[in-house]
Amino acid sequence: MNREDFPILNQQVYNKPLIYFDNAATTQKPMMVIDALSDYYRTINSNIHRGVHSLSQQATEEFEIARKAVQQFIHAAHDHEIIFTRGATESINLVAASFGRTYIQEGDEIIISEMEHHSNIVPWQFLCEDRGAKLQVIPFDEKGELCIDQLEALITPRTRIIAVTHVSNSLGTINPIKEIIDIAHAHHVPVMVDGAQAVAHGAVDVQALDCDFYCFSGHKMYAPMGIGVMYGKERWLKEMKPYQGGGEMISTVTFEKTTYNELPFKFEAGTPAVGDVIGLRKAIEYMQQTGIQNIADYEQELLQYGTQELLRIDGLRIIGQAAHKAAVISFLVGNIHPYDMGVLLDHQGVAVRTGHHCTQPIMDHYHIPGTVRASFALYNTKEEIDFFVQAVQKATQMLQ
Ligand code: PMP
Repeated sequence: MNREDFPILNQQVYNKPLIYFDNAATTQKPMMVIDALSDYYRTINSNIHRGVHSLSQQATEEFEIARKAVQQFIHAAHDHEIIFTRGATESINLVAASFGRTYIQEGDEIIISEMEHHSNIVPWQFLCEDRGAKLQVIPFDEKGELCIDQLEALITPRTRIIAVTHVSNSLGTINPIKEIIDIAHAHHVPVMVDGAQAVAHGAVDVQALDCDFYCFSGHKMYAPMGIGVMYGKERWLKEMKPYQGGGEMISTVTFEKTTYNELPFKFEAGTPAVGDVIGLRKAIEYMQQTGIQNIADYEQELLQYGTQELLRIDGLRIIGQAAHKAAVISFLVGNIHPYDMGVLLDHQGVAVRTGHHCTQPIMDHYHIPGTVRASFALYNTKEEIDFFVQAVQKATQMLQ
């Protein structure tokens, strides 16, 4: 893969070559994306949609081309189903707030899962508190696979929405979301998918999945930070009340009454991150040029190799052993605290994440304080994994 496209990787940390295994937190950016950002600010920076002048028209055009690129990337039926946000967190908050204000009444129920990121728990808790609704939770088993057989029993006539992650950021589990969506739809319940950990690692087709909402961040798929997407089916977005009020989302404003703009602008109040949207388009282009299936296959190879090599270490256990996993390995060695392991790995040039990864219920499930998490991206190599395994061994010897 094209490692040389990522200039940040070519540096030393504590006089050791940087090994960046914190890709589930954020990926690094290829030159194509970095150049697109600086080109935007050097040549066409201006506010969009309202300007008659040339720069504004060019920026608007680039912005709307990017929306079409996202539409095509996730195979949405319409470009006005693509809403730009700051990231997955804002996208989920948007769905919870707008769907909630429109459809949730006292006594209604919302289903999430036990392996959700806090971003897909807390917004629903806000909603439940505001509306007097109730949160139900699909559990997972010891391997880290959702107990889908329990879903049917959780759905009642009061269930209004199911919000579930496509891929777990802590366990790596790839959930059978098509199956979940089919079960939910058989009961006329819509499904929101948190795709934050999925979009960079395989093709997503929202029409084939038939999901009602799909949320993700740009920065975990080689795009700039501060840009994300909320995909929603037109039928919901048309009915849903707006999320934030402000410029752009209105049609007419008087002190007596405001009417709202058409889709997608109804959900895009204020000045958007135009340069970052253009950067997101470049990241999509980059992934498509590399080949999304090539990326998926290569990362699976790294996952298998990394799992096999790590398991050679005495006392190492992997948290999350689902049959279908993305390239995320969470582990613990003996009684070593994940934080101590993380610090010693950093001193050897290896960047991993330690802690609860914003998934405290997962840590509670396993009665552990956290894990060490290595997560791979297209620019990582087996040689890096070899060095990493030695580094874990070295740290283990020092800490045990
Ligand atoms: N959901 C999942 C599964 C995630 O991994 C993350 C990021 N760690 C988020 C949501 C939130 O993404 P962001 O912080 O980019 O808004």
